[in-house]
Amino acid sequence: MKKMRDLAVCLSIILAFSIIPALSVSANVYTGNAVYAAQYLLQNAGYNPGVIDGAYGDNTQNAIIAFQSANGLNPSDGIVGVNTWAKLTAGVTVGSGSSGNAVYAAQYLLLNAGYSPGTIDGAYGTNTKNAIMAFQSAKGLTPSDGIVGVNTWAKLTAGVTVGISASATSSTVVTYSLNADGSKYITTNFQVKEFACKDGTDTILIDTALAQRLQKIRDYFGKSVTIVSGYRTAAYNSSINGAKDSYHIKGQAADISISGVSRSQIRAYANSIGLSCEIYNTDNPNTAGLTQHVDTRDISSPYNFHE
Ligand SMILES: [Zn+2]
Repeated sequence: MKKMRDLAVCLSIILAFSIIPALSVSANVYTGNAVYAAQYLLQNAGYNPGVIDGAYGDNTQNAIIAFQSANGLNPSDGIVGVNTWAKLTAGVTVGSGSSGNAVYAAQYLLLNAGYSPGTIDGAYGTNTKNAIMAFQSAKGLTPSDGIVGVNTWAKLTAGVTVGISASATSSTVVTYSLNADGSKYITTNFQVKEFACKDGTDTILIDTALAQRLQKIRDYFGKSVTIVSGYRTAAYNSSINGAKDSYHIKGQAADISISGVSRSQIRAYANSIGLSCEIYNTDNPNTAGLTQHVDTRDISSPYNFHE
């Protein structure tokens, strides 16, 4: 008991003194059981996700993209969703006598779903079998025979996304590194480096809610969206006479242009998906291809502020 208490005290001290920046997480935005499962299934399919560590890093993303590309999955965006899970588990059965990658994957997916398969050891033992049967029974899968085939894989991976999903709408400002993460895709079409500060600073802040909505804009107009200015350091922002409290400094604004699309067209759609837009002193709302500022602030008075 004393050990437990000491541990608890120790943990509360660590928590009390950890400096966790508000709304900021590490560049590996997806970690944990589902990532482990994807890594083991990639390895099972002959792809190398690097160290199996439950973290979505460059090697894992590249292995997913290679797998998707080889299996005709479009887009090959490095995000494991329903179609990629289906391909990764196609023809894979976990049952009596199974061991290795596929069993590890099933064990991690059971954990992810809240079922304990006992020790995560890549071996199909009694605990794993019982956890599968309990999961199957709870999901109405018949027979609940403890064998993981196509239907059970589908249920185990239902709603599980590894990578950054363009359909998510949560607002989280993620800190990236231009060097380490620049070529990563954070949505189907946008790479981290597109948001980089124009002064070449390695740190890049991006609100996922901004990136996801820029992707929606791209999808809506069906044209590439140029980020003329994304993240700005405070120093860079002041050097170009940006507003003192600019949302660019927080990674929550982007100045964008789209060939053949006017500011008023961008604003109308951007407002409809919850982005605020700047009205300029010299506005030219109907001229195509001009740069338009959008950001994630409250849109209660859209069309009504200047940057
Ligand atoms: Zn701007």
